[in-house]
Formats: sequence, C-alpha cells, structure tokens
Amino acid sequence: MGVLILLKGKNVAEQINDEISEKVEKLKKNGIIPTLVIMWAGEDTDTLYYISSIEKACISTGISLIKRNFHERIDQETFLNEFKAVNENPTINGIIVMRPLPPQINEGTIAEQIKPEKDIDCISPINIAKVFSGTGGGFAPCTAESVMEILKYYNVELKGKDVVVIGRSMVVGRPVAMMLLKQNATVTICHSKTKDLPNVARRADILVAALGKPNFINRNFIKKGAVVIDVGINELDNEIVGDVDFDDAVHMAGMITPVPGGVGLVTTGVLLRNVLKAVNLQKCY
Ligand code: NAP
Repeated sequence: MGVLILLKGKNVAEQINDEISEKVEKLKKNGIIPTLVIMWAGEDTDTLYYISSIEKACISTGISLIKRNFHERIDQETFLNEFKAVNENPTINGIIVMRPLPPQINEGTIAEQIKPEKDIDCISPINIAKVFSGTGGGFAPCTAESVMEILKYYNVELKGKDVVVIGRSMVVGRPVAMMLLKQNATVTICHSKTKDLPNVARRADILVAALGKPNFINRNFIKKGAVVIDVGINELDNEIVGDVDFDDAVHMAGMITPVPGGVGLVTTGVLLRNVLKAVNLQKCY
C-alpha cells in the first residue's frame, strides 16, 4: 500500500461553516436575518435525521430555521397553498421541500413553481438547466456540490483528468458529472447497464461512486493511486457504510473519502451557504 490520503469532510465542513457564521454576523448587523424554511409531510426517519443535522448547523451558524411539518395524508391543495405562502413571503430566503413526498402530492408542480432564487437544493428546471449548460449562477444539488468542494479543498487537479462517475441520478450522478466537465475533466458516466464496470472504472484518475449499493466498489474497480469519492450512505447491519468497500479500496486508492465522515458531512454546510447566496440573489440589501 502506498501513502494514503484520507479526504475528511470535517475539515471542509468547518471551513464552510466558519465562512457562513462570519457572513451571517455581518448580515445581522445590517438587520438581515437569513431564513430557511423546511417543509415536509410524514415522519420518514431519514428525513427527520437530515432535518436534525440541518437544525444543528443553523443553530451554530446563526441562520434562522422554520420547520413546517404536515400530516402524511395532507391533500395536495393544502400543501401547495402552504408552499405558495412560503414561496411568496419576502422574509424567507431559502426553501427545501423534503423528498420523498407522499404520493398524492405532485413533486413536479413544486419544482415548476419554486422561485429559482429560493431553490437552494436545485429542484427548479431553471437551476437544473444552469448546472447542465455550465452557465452557473444558480444553485446546484448540494451533494454534487459537496463532492466538488472536497476535491477543491484537497487541491485535486481536474483539468484533463479521466473521471468516472458511477450513478446517473438527477441529485448526484448527472449534476456532478456536469460540474466536473465544467472543470475540464474528461467524464464517463456509468449506470446499471454499463458493461464491464470494473474495467471502465479502472480508467479513472478520479472515481465518484454514487450508486447506492453498500460496499460495492472494491480494489478491482480502482486504478493504483486514484482519488476515490464515496457518495454512498447505506445502512448495513446497523452501521452506515458507503458504496465503496473502504478496507479493500485503500489497497489501491491514493486518496479516499471515509463514510461516515466524508461527503455527507459537507452537504449541510453547502446547503446553508446556499441560503446566504439566496439572500444575495434576492437583493435583500
Ligand atoms: P439512485 O437515485 O438510486 O441512483 C443510483 C444510480 O446508480 C442509478 O443511476 C443506477 O443506474 C446506478 N446503479 C445502481 N446499481 C448499479 C450497479 N450495480 N452498477 C452501476 N450503476 C448502478 O441513488 P442516488 O440518490 O443518486 O444516491 C446514490 C448514493 O448516494 C446512495 O447511497 C445515497 O444514499 C447516497 N446519497 C448521499 C448523499 C450525501 O449527502 N452524501 C446525498 C444523496 C444521496 P440506473 O440509472 O441504470 O438505474
């Protein structure tokens, strides 16, 4: 095994959170209280866990958080009316509508209606188009942006590098591939129908695993010395594990994110930083 560099999310998250706290203090001195609303229906455990981590980060950075929880059987009209009130309220800067929503609520309607300047987790087609066209200026999905933040923090060169992204979801795989492309990497996107995945993955200087399969990626998928970014968060035998079999992958990887303690730690910081970006876009001062 060569020298292995652990790409800890904690360092990246601390830097982002320090920047947020500083900016929030300045905004508050000017009478602006950055405000985030989280709306959700039902009591999904993963949703509640994510909300509690956002709440902790809001408390530590000084961002105001309003939580709007509804019954899982709420009808679409009532939910949409509540959503519209938040969407139109000028004192609200950022909105997250937690998914999955119950089946009677049409997620597409919310994505169409959310004001792009409040859409801090990138569900609006306008923000998605900005990520995919590479023009920027909107919001990117927070997990995809967290991957980019980790690569930037640890000075991983992207220009001209071969990157393989495993997974093509709209929240992780596709947007992160576009963001890497914008940084002039040569990007291959893999999915469940990709032939001979280990062989394709072994071409990568940088391998991004976002497939949602616990410990799936082992040393056979990794070129010697490659940078491995594990986006996966999976529960296995009451433990949280990534999509990468860390103990095996370290025999080949040059740099690797741990799970837990990697990408997931950065996501909340990126989300809250987007609330401040929203304040700017809404020209609150
Ligand atoms: P998803 O919507 O289920 O998408 C999974 C993708 O992986 C699909 O494109 C699928 O291909 C592909 N895939 C599945 N099995 C595969 C295989 N055997 N070989 C190659 N490709 C395969 O998942 P997601 O929402 O993108 O999430 C991916 C992982 O990231 C999950 O573990 C999730 O928990 C985690 N995650 C983490 C964060 C964070 O903050 N760190 C945030 C969100 C998600 P097809 O398109 O062909 O079906």
